[in-house]
Amino acid sequence: MDVADAAHRQSLIGMDALDGNAIAGWLFEHFGSEMTTVTGRCAHCGTQSLIAELAVYTRAPGAVARCRTCGNVVFVLVKTRGATQLHADGFEMPA
Ligand SMILES: [Zn+2]
Repeated sequence: MDVADAAHRQSLIGMDALDGNAIAGWLFEHFGSEMTTVTGRCAHCGTQSLIAELAVYTRAPGAVARCRTCGNVVFVLVKTRGATQLHADGFEMPA
C-alpha cells in the first residue's frame, strides 16, 4: 500500500470510528445472538474480519460499518419504529 492509498483509507475511516462493539446490542436484537465474535468477509476486498473489528459510525437513525482494509461500507443498520433493519450486501457472513 502506498501513501496515497493510506491517505485515502484514512479519509474513509476517519478518527471518529467506533468498532463493532458499539452496535453489539442492536445486532443482538436483530439476530437474537451475540454477533460481534462472528467472522465475515468483505465483499469488496475479501478481507475476513470479526464484526467487532469493523469501523462503525453511529448516526441516527442507524449505523454504518466499514471494512478497515478497503474502507468500503459492508453493512448498514437502520432503526425504524423499534425494528432493526440490516442491509449487509457488502459482508458475507456464515449462514
Ligand atoms: Zn474490504
